Amino acid sequence: MANVLFIVVDSLMPQPLNTLLQQRELPGFSFLISHGYQTTLTSVFPTMSVVNDSSILTGTYPDEHGIPGLVWFKRDESRIVDYGDALGNIIRQGALTVGRDTVKHLNDTHLSQQVETIHEYLAKRGISSASVNLMVRRGLSKHPLRTPFNRLLGVESVSGPEYLHLGYFLDDGTENFPTPFNQYGYGYDQVKQMTVNLMTHPNRPRLIISYLSDPDKTIHKEGPDVRRPVYDVDRFIQHILGTFPSWEDTLQTWTIAVMGDSGQSHVLQNKAKALIRLDELLSPYTLLGMGKGQNEADLAVAPNERSAYVYPLYSQMDLPQLAKRILRDERVDLVAMPTDKGAHVLTAKGELFLRKGGSQSDPYGQAWEVEGDPALLDVKGTKNCWEYGKYPDVFRQLYGAVHSQPPPFALLAAKPGYEFQFQTSPTHVGGGSHGGISEKEMTVPLIVGGTTRKPVYNRLVDMKKFMIDCLA
Ligand SMILES: [Zn+2]
Repeated sequence: MANVLFIVVDSLMPQPLNTLLQQRELPGFSFLISHGYQTTLTSVFPTMSVVNDSSILTGTYPDEHGIPGLVWFKRDESRIVDYGDALGNIIRQGALTVGRDTVKHLNDTHLSQQVETIHEYLAKRGISSASVNLMVRRGLSKHPLRTPFNRLLGVESVSGPEYLHLGYFLDDGTENFPTPFNQYGYGYDQVKQMTVNLMTHPNRPRLIISYLSDPDKTIHKEGPDVRRPVYDVDRFIQHILGTFPSWEDTLQTWTIAVMGDSGQSHVLQNKAKALIRLDELLSPYTLLGMGKGQNEADLAVAPNERSAYVYPLYSQMDLPQLAKRILRDERVDLVAMPTDKGAHVLTAKGELFLRKGGSQSDPYGQAWEVEGDPALLDVKGTKNCWEYGKYPDVFRQLYGAVHSQPPPFALLAAKPGYEFQFQTSPTHVGGGSHGGISEKEMTVPLIVGGTTRKPVYNRLVDMKKFMIDCLA
């Protein structure tokens, strides 16, 4: 029985990877592929890491796991939730609310209790697992936070699998205190050390999920074609393969899978063009972001890089009308809204209504009824089925996003080259960005070494079942 190591690489993309593979410059990846295979998966919408990770870990879409984005408006608490992008960031910003949302609420409150993470699933069956640095990691064990972060955040311990690392923020009895010099425990070297220690532990866990956040940052800065992160990840894989006397020995003991979570789209160099300012797009309405009180605003907005949630704060607003106005800005790709049992999707070319059910199934066995023109989403309907074009699973992805939280709201996605901006939201002019629903953001690689076992379907939501199958 092999143990399984899953390496989730933030923003790993097929294109630079394939180019370098063809040039035979990636010994680590090549070794895995020659002892397994390579394929691609389709992600979930919005393509933000917390949403993706929640789907990987629970095998469900956002309407089921309940994490709508990195940033979203929690209507029952009248506030914007923002998970930040890494613990280090949060400590730098000193934002305690952000810290509590990330460290505690994301896993213990916001991630639905109706879904089960892979760690919970395995622990209930007496199978041990480990999580290295993933933001989403709910499990049945408790782990104490290191002083003074426990006092600062008012959080004594966090839930996770039997073995858990969150950078160097947990009190694990070691001296490794998180500082900028050790990247707070989130760099390649730190993740490598933590992962190798777990792989060689006398009571080693059956499953390890390790997360590499660095590639995302480089690609945000330098754009989706940058190759350095792929070389870095390959070196990481080589080190992991070197854990036992030979690379073959390592694959005998550990099945190794490497996957992306979402890709990135380029962002134009021209700042005025590249950034879709939400205050301009939604003028003359007043907007609620992280700062202002709700009474003064018409709409709450939550930008997630290349997508944005827009929430009306009073009831008589005509959202489809607003959507049509928004689409006059030709940088906006589509606007989607929840309906009773489905989604209302508008593009500049027209609109369609999507509902679960009916007699036409998509390639994943999901049945849909469509009113309007499915060609708007590059989908073809035949007598019994739906055929996706450039956007595999786009119906379920849209449905998942617009039912990720209570209505009413609209979800905007930008065309490649652009991103949404409001107040201090991060921007990536001349670099790369994600959050949208374009082909590049939705397509991620999966490389598996040590088994030829395949996932049932090639989607992020099929990875939980795939990990379980690999453990069998
Ligand atoms: Zn990112």
